[in-house]
Amino acid sequence: MVKVLVVEDEETLLHNLADKLRSEGFTVYTASDGEVGLQKIRAEVPDLIVLDIMLPGLDGLSICRMVRHDASTAHIPIIMLTARGTEVDKIVGLESGADDYIVKPFGLGEFLARVRAVMRRAPGRTVMQQDEIVSNDLRLNLTSRRVFKGEDEVKLSNKEFDLLAELMRNKSAVLSRDLILTKVWGYDYFVDKRTVDVHIRWLREKIEDDASNPRRIITVRGVGYRFEG
Ligand code: CA
Repeated sequence: MVKVLVVEDEETLLHNLADKLRSEGFTVYTASDGEVGLQKIRAEVPDLIVLDIMLPGLDGLSICRMVRHDASTAHIPIIMLTARGTEVDKIVGLESGADDYIVKPFGLGEFLARVRAVMRRAPGRTVMQQDEIVSNDLRLNLTSRRVFKGEDEVKLSNKEFDLLAELMRNKSAVLSRDLILTKVWGYDYFVDKRTVDVHIRWLREKIEDDASNPRRIITVRGVGYRFEG
């Protein structure tokens, strides 16, 4: 079952695209504004997102960036729908993270061909993506979302897992609290910065040999945290 989410505020176009995709066997979700689109992306984690740029509420480019910055959705291929050449410049120029784009008006045949092409490339990208991050005796599997310390599984909450994945991906780099909040909690969350510290403390209790003398997650005073190994 391949899930496609179409976010488009032009009702007729949304209806036609959804119909076409359903007739090809896709499971289709729809949204006609940006906020609902983002909610459905997070709730359904679709296999493909078809995303209009000009939307009421959140625009498509912002959604695209949020999807790319969220560890749980970063892998999802995105096809952007655009009305004008200036928008095309934005998609390409800002490195929005879109996989492909189609300029309106377009035919349903062309649309389907693009969908198929992006879906064909997607599995390859997943394979190429590092499925597992290993550091000393710590092993984090991004697909199964399981973490092992030596032979023992470490049980983490969703946020603890995302936080650890972000730290391990950026080994040795200092991550500010702001950056961590953005990447792990998302742009639209107004979370107290101390939330990060609390989650770091919980993580340390689970993955450090001695949580009061951490060797893996190092505090960088006044800035944030660094994963050392
Ligand atoms: Ca539109």
